[in-house]
Amino acid sequence: MLDVVDVGKRSLATYRGIAPDEILDELHRLSEDLRGARCMHLSATPYGGGVSEILRSLVPLYNDLGIVTDWKLIHGDDSFFQVTKRIHNGLQGAPGELSESEKATYLANAQLNAHQLVSDSEHYDFVFVHDPQPAVLATLSPRLDARWIWRCHIDTSHPNPAFWDFLSPYLHAYDAAIFTLQEFIPPRLPISDVRIYPPAIDPLSPKNHPLHVSLARDVLEWIGIRTHRPLITQVSRFDRWKDPLGVVRAYQRVRPHVPDLQLALAGSLALDDPEGWEVYEELRAATAGDSLIHILTNLVGVGNIEVNALQAFSDVVVQKSLREGFGLVVAETLWKSTPVVASRVGGIPIQMPEGTGGFLVDTVEECAEAMLHLLRRPDEARLLGARGHEHVRQHFLMPRMLRDHLRLLKHLAAVRPLPPRGIVPVSFNPASLQGV
Ligand code: UDP
Repeated sequence: MLDVVDVGKRSLATYRGIAPDEILDELHRLSEDLRGARCMHLSATPYGGGVSEILRSLVPLYNDLGIVTDWKLIHGDDSFFQVTKRIHNGLQGAPGELSESEKATYLANAQLNAHQLVSDSEHYDFVFVHDPQPAVLATLSPRLDARWIWRCHIDTSHPNPAFWDFLSPYLHAYDAAIFTLQEFIPPRLPISDVRIYPPAIDPLSPKNHPLHVSLARDVLEWIGIRTHRPLITQVSRFDRWKDPLGVVRAYQRVRPHVPDLQLALAGSLALDDPEGWEVYEELRAATAGDSLIHILTNLVGVGNIEVNALQAFSDVVVQKSLREGFGLVVAETLWKSTPVVASRVGGIPIQMPEGTGGFLVDTVEECAEAMLHLLRRPDEARLLGARGHEHVRQHFLMPRMLRDHLRLLKHLAAVRPLPPRGIVPVSFNPASLQGV
């Protein structure tokens, strides 16, 4: 059996007054034809990184609409996740190639997962497969009569052909694919129905819920941040694409101008990310002995509330990625009206149009300049943060993402009609969507 992730219950009615009304109304209409349908989201890990963040909030909302939805995980040992990490990097353009034994490791693990998926013998009308780790399963699990959707969250605009030529023949079985940006669609993608739907954040999750200022201060003092001193933060997995060492260099350029400036680098170490430990150790070595630099991890208890407090309470939040799929951390920070300095890569610019949210940068020097600019001009920083909040409200909250998904499901169900369905679960209450 594949593991099912236990998610909570959420009601879309609680998003009234937070997310735009027209989106909530459209969700109500779209779900009418889909009630009672079965849907599965399949991913590699239940925590650490954007995909798990999204699914934890999204899956309960599907269920609230009467679309009976599970979130399942593929299994894999260390060697499998070593290979999938290399595939992830290769698809984002990193050099190198897969050896025959790495390909065999990947396919053998995928076969096992496909076998488990088929032997679970549950019927699903729709299966979303997230990211490259489980991507080959659509082809390897032919007996499931589902509509398959590949949701690729990473930047596959210039994949290394050695990796893409290996993976792409396994993508024929998909009915549709979703990317964050048009330019991420890889060359010769063998899927004809391609959608561009950026991800979103959940304004009601513990990470994004408003925190009382005294609680935020307490939480930060508890993890060693001195709240009377200025603070710059980056929240990211320890990953070279997130360039944490670049953040340290930018910070070191600003520090002579703001002597007691602190830097917090918060990162989680994920199950499917063996490289994270290496980057973490490099970072510790590069910052050893500097008491104003705080390296914080999930292993010492930095979780949602701590990340929430860091994003809400920092003077500036940085996201100095070299490559980025979307960068949920940017939307999370802007939702808290905190200004952001971020690299002009991937999905970050659509979150920060000119004059909104903060500054886009291309180099360590620009990053340092923009940080100093905002530290010295708190009024401008506040205004940019406030505009960022409204931009996120309009475009990047979870109900919008769910609406995009339902539009696709409705289309796929029109192309290939769903089998007759049983009774809609009793917990579903259509009135909840109308805020009644
Ligand atoms: N995150 C977290 N703790 C950490 C580091 C990251 O909770 O120490 C969360 C972060 O708040 C965000 C997600 O992990 O929700 C990262 O998503 P993003 O799209 O920014 O990057 P990804 O990791 O998917 O490349």
